[in-house]
Amino acid sequence: MEKNKFKTQNLYVSEEEKILNWQEVQTAFKKTFGVEVYDSWLQKISLIKEYNDFLILGVPTRFFRDWIVSRYLDKILEQVRNFKLSINRVEFKIIEENKQNQELFKINEINKVTEIKDSILNYNRLNPNLNFENFIQGKSNDIALSYSRKVCEHLSRYNPLYICGGVGLGKTHLLNAIGLTLQNDNNVMFISAERFMYHFIKSIKKNDMVNFKDFFRKSSVFIIDDIQFISGKESLQEEFFHTFNSLMDKGSQIIISADRAPTKLDRVQERMKSRLGGGLVVDIETPDLELKIKIIKKKIEETQSQFKENINLDNDVINYIASESKTNIRELIGVLNRVIAFSRVNNKTLNVTDCKNILKDVFNQIRVITVDKIQNVVSNYFNIPLSEMLSQRRSRPLARPRQIAMYLAKKMTARSLPEIGRRFANRDHTTVIHAVKTISRLSEQDDEMKKNINQIKSLLLEQ
Ligand code: ADP
Ligand code: MG
Repeated sequence: MEKNKFKTQNLYVSEEEKILNWQEVQTAFKKTFGVEVYDSWLQKISLIKEYNDFLILGVPTRFFRDWIVSRYLDKILEQVRNFKLSINRVEFKIIEENKQNQELFKINEINKVTEIKDSILNYNRLNPNLNFENFIQGKSNDIALSYSRKVCEHLSRYNPLYICGGVGLGKTHLLNAIGLTLQNDNNVMFISAERFMYHFIKSIKKNDMVNFKDFFRKSSVFIIDDIQFISGKESLQEEFFHTFNSLMDKGSQIIISADRAPTKLDRVQERMKSRLGGGLVVDIETPDLELKIKIIKKKIEETQSQFKENINLDNDVINYIASESKTNIRELIGVLNRVIAFSRVNNKTLNVTDCKNILKDVFNQIRVITVDKIQNVVSNYFNIPLSEMLSQRRSRPLARPRQIAMYLAKKMTARSLPEIGRRFANRDHTTVIHAVKTISRLSEQDDEMKKNINQIKSLLLEQ
């Protein structure tokens, strides 16, 4: 395989070369998903085969695959497409499940005592690039930023500090900045709720809860990212509740982030919600044009000094990117990188028309597609009432469109499998997995299905 043939200096290879450098893709994964998620999941994905429009990726276990598919598939695809636009799907292959299990087991036996500590320490890394100096202030994040700074000056005054806001608006960045500021004089623990659960389960399996509890309860500053993850997970909530209380009792500062306010957390115990919201709750809103422009300019500056190169984007182009990118700052930066990469590869100064062409695809995909919309378009396309399509009836004229809608919801939105299941009259996520598999298979084998899917997709993208 030729995959490592191109060692380019920057993150992007030109589209004409059509060859992925998996290491570079992995680097992008790390940036996008953060060190924790990357280390525990994405790092273990290998590239097995590369075709023009799809990839076969290797994963260690079935569970691993399902987890990745349900949570990260959209973003993985998005990242891969930054390097090779023609890719429109990925498939997973499980490599030597048994062998790996055996090996894992052996390692666990040997390292019984130290493993949990070591691995937690490994994931407790703060990212030095996400600090207060490069966090740009705007109307939407002003309050969150100022209390994040204040918390560092007056520990335990705002306790817990709870920062909420949608995806990609800077929560993790702020938590990281707090951690960096406090880490020299305090015992700082920084972990995502997902990672917390991973260790929790691992400790239960290994019968090692004592170590787990000790470890998490000794920090004087406890920072936990994306707490909405505990939704619906009873035993995890139980454990977190105890950790939380014992940290509060000994006066540790707790800082939490979530994608929504404590009162709005879904399927979380009431007592938990009231504890989470019992200190200070601040939120980050979507950025206004002014902030987006500031961020673009700052990023250009950073890239220029990092790569020692000149990036020429005139104000029209900057304004265009800022005003078209509606959803969040992560997307904004992604879009900017794409424009920069393009101007680099083609060695030209871009105008707004060029940008429109480069970004057409990106904006179309990110902006408009929701599960509701997919359901409406699909039911119209097949000419069946929406209520019938969502109903429990299993006749094929209803079941197929339903499966197609689930499949598209998975492929075209960032919703997780359980979320999609809920939107389809509370079906289980395994039903969604089944639908995705069935339609993926059919759309390869069956021309009629392929045509239907493509037509529905273009209807969705047109609107
Ligand atoms: P969240 O955790 O809310 O999903 P992140 O903190 O991961 O969002 O932010 C997404 C990206 O946007 C990161 O690269 C982050 O550094 C950047 N970012 C967000 N807000 C700002 C800001 N105000 N100034 C500079 N960069 C920002
Ligand atoms: Mg985050």
